[in-house]
Amino acid sequence: MTKRFVIALIKHETNTFSPIPTPLSAFGHGNGPSYGEDARAAFANSNTPFAAFLDIARREGAEAVTPVAAESWPSNMATRATFEALLQPLEEAVRAGCDACFLDLHGAMVVEGCDDAEGEILRRVRRIRPDLPIAVTFDYHANLSRDIVANASVITGYKTYPHVDMYDAGLAAGDILARSLRGQARPVMAWGWLPLVSSVMRHAPEDGPSGDILAYARAMEHSGRVRAATLLPGFAHADTPYTGVSAVVVADAGADAGAQAAAQEVCDRMLAIAWERRAEYVFHPQPLEVSVARARALGAGRHDGPILLIDHCDNCGSGGTQDVMRVVEEILKQNLDDVAIAPIRDPQAVAQMVEAGIGSNVKLMLGGKTDMPAIGLAGRPLELAGRVRNITDGEIVFTGPMYTGLKSHLGRTAVLDTGRAQIVVTERHHEPFDLVIFRHCGIEPTKKQFIMLKSRIHYRAGFKPIAAHIVECAGAGVTNADLSVYRYRKLARPIYPLDII
Ligand SMILES: [Zn+2]
Repeated sequence: MTKRFVIALIKHETNTFSPIPTPLSAFGHGNGPSYGEDARAAFANSNTPFAAFLDIARREGAEAVTPVAAESWPSNMATRATFEALLQPLEEAVRAGCDACFLDLHGAMVVEGCDDAEGEILRRVRRIRPDLPIAVTFDYHANLSRDIVANASVITGYKTYPHVDMYDAGLAAGDILARSLRGQARPVMAWGWLPLVSSVMRHAPEDGPSGDILAYARAMEHSGRVRAATLLPGFAHADTPYTGVSAVVVADAGADAGAQAAAQEVCDRMLAIAWERRAEYVFHPQPLEVSVARARALGAGRHDGPILLIDHCDNCGSGGTQDVMRVVEEILKQNLDDVAIAPIRDPQAVAQMVEAGIGSNVKLMLGGKTDMPAIGLAGRPLELAGRVRNITDGEIVFTGPMYTGLKSHLGRTAVLDTGRAQIVVTERHHEPFDLVIFRHCGIEPTKKQFIMLKSRIHYRAGFKPIAAHIVECAGAGVTNADLSVYRYRKLARPIYPLDII
């Protein structure tokens, strides 16, 4: 009989300090969740676990049921009603009968009244079918809980940051589960968690301890000792008792009587490296004016590629408002020339520029429209004059290594040219990780002397290959790497580096 696989995507990285709400319409990047055939069409053949699950179903000759695909830009927690609206189609599909479930989740989702949304999703699915085989993939920035591991059969995650191996993570989890359904594998898992809040700015494999941990994990997978070894450095901007660095390892008890012990040993070793080198997970920012002056000096008289200025404290890819103007202000104050900036989210400014039309001169109070009460920061716009250089509908397709092939929607987009700087202003949130953010509105990034990006690490996917230098600029916002700006209430204490431990 044809097997039936339920494949679903519910993803949200929740920054509990963000002032941005998360209504149901925020999923689908502003267009709402996709259901059924639409969900399949939206993500098939993309670099995502969901697409990998579809391919596994096809390979296994199984019927793929896709009740929901819902992904939002990071923001604050969704209401319980929104969460239930996402969960209901999944529950109905499982209740209708299936042989296995494949879930593409984030791992740092918090919803109203629940600090562990992924744990709740898995609990609810297992409540309907206590024995259901479930494969789950998590983002690299997941905060793992006991409930998650207890209610899943196989867990894997990304091994890259920027995340360019999402499909591979899906293939790894899906393949182990599919083999177990054929009676050719018996997955067992081991996991562990550390009281360690690590900075996202130190998560990239080339920057901190993660590279060596991932190299060890890959070596253990290639040796055949375990089937999948996943490091989850966590998400510091979700204030939950589960926030921390964790690891989860899958081994095959069907092939190896010592599988459980092997999984635990590999997991323990991964976390031991993280703990020994925990000081390397702390980011030490430089004063903003020093960083911008350094970028200016690096750019003097050279033409071998743009200097990147990274405005990492206001990254909408982690819940930032994307309208904090502090770094832009410093760049203009220090008279940097030939600068491209992307993106500032400001629907009012876009409306004003659209009204004025291409070629018009305008005066704007740009950005600074959002207050951030959780960190005691008020929005402060920057008064700018310039010419409207371009206006687009903001419909883009990623061609770089991240989310390759997927469409995205910036909303209406306008370029303000101040003479020294060309500023891409959008209606919607979007982290710049693909050159298309500039190219779609007529700016060639490779030709610019300076590029300012509102991003932390994901910009590296598209922009690192074209950059001559990278300068991290500490502005302000709800993705600040300085953890002392956050008033944590729910973290498990003591925890490093906030406490002596
Ligand atoms: Zn991530």
